[in-house]
Amino acid sequence: MKVGVFKFSSCDGCQLAFFELEEELLELSRIISVEYFLEASSSNRWEHFDLAFVEGSISTKEEEERIKKIRESSKLLVAIGACAVSGGIQSARNFEDFSQVYSSVYSYKHYETNHYSKPVGDFVEVDFELRGCPINKESLKELIGAIIQGRSFQMPSYPLCLECKRKGNPCVVVAHGLSCLGPITLAGCGALCPSYKRGCYGCYGPIEKPNLEALEEGYRRLGKDERALKESLILSFNAYNKNWRGQI
Ligand code: SF4
Ligand code: SF4
Ligand code: SF4
Repeated sequence: MKVGVFKFSSCDGCQLAFFELEEELLELSRIISVEYFLEASSSNRWEHFDLAFVEGSISTKEEEERIKKIRESSKLLVAIGACAVSGGIQSARNFEDFSQVYSSVYSYKHYETNHYSKPVGDFVEVDFELRGCPINKESLKELIGAIIQGRSFQMPSYPLCLECKRKGNPCVVVAHGLSCLGPITLAGCGALCPSYKRGCYGCYGPIEKPNLEALEEGYRRLGKDERALKESLILSFNAYNKNWRGQI
């Protein structure tokens, strides 16, 4: 099985999940052949890929062309991480005046970039999504295993609160008066932050139909206003996710 790992506008953090596989890598190397992975190898071949992993959002014309080329060359395409799935933190610019954002970041005018930073799925068909900022190695391992064995791959579709309650965590909202995006965030991380007495800040992105009104009411009870909630969504990893685009 020929595999490619590709990077677009991103911090490279999700690609590190491949290195975290460590022990499994040896076993996997008997079944898959990594043909293209710039972060891991200086020997890269552009092939027809059975499986392409794509990290990062699409932010330039060059990236728009490249993602289409990868899609044409790949049987299956997996978007990995919040940047690829939802546009990432860089998509916060989608809600601002572009020229102001541009001049506050670049001191020169010659860098070509789009006004919007968008998810991979806005440009090409995506077969699977792995959520998180970064993704975790367990879900990556599960996905690769499912593809190799030809079985179905399913991530949780329910909110993080269910995962959190199953772990027996005291709710940080009730116990500590903290804000938490758990009710509208997709489960899958093992309720990592609430397990350490921190509110979830939504790195897995929204569930399919997030109830922002109910969460807003919860924020009001904590003495925070609607703006605080919107900022925690807009200035975050999944600002441009399709599940709440138009709602915030
Ligand atoms: S999702 Fe997070 S960890 Fe992954 S590339 Fe984007 S910013 Fe980095
Ligand atoms: S701590 Fe957050 S994720 Fe856990 S139950 Fe409370 S609101 Fe839900
Ligand atoms: S608890 Fe929320 S912010 Fe923390 S890892 Fe899980 S999804 Fe991400």
